[in-house]
Amino acid sequence: MVRQWRYQCWGTADFARGVVETVAEPVRVICDIPKYVYADRECNEANMRLIAAAPDLLDIAVTAEEYLAGILGDCIPECECILHPLRAALTKATGDSRYGENT
Ligand SMILES: [Zn+2]
Repeated sequence: MVRQWRYQCWGTADFARGVVETVAEPVRVICDIPKYVYADRECNEANMRLIAAAPDLLDIAVTAEEYLAGILGDCIPECECILHPLRAALTKATGDSRYGENT
């Protein structure tokens, strides 16, 4: 599991901003979301949490796809199993066509 990104908020009510950064030293800024982009601080924090969790989510989604493909096997026509939305999300996140599900 990666878990090397976290988010941090600082600033005042007039100029609150948040940054997603690694825990490595020196700290490396991954994403900066100033208050003026989205005035809603809750929205900013939700975006930063999602960005910080993205590497972990991608790792577990790749593992889950391999695990589920082994359990479920080949799909039948018009199948509605969980592999299809999972593979579509992996294609969207990675751009890797081996997951084969267009979005
Ligand atoms: Zn299926």
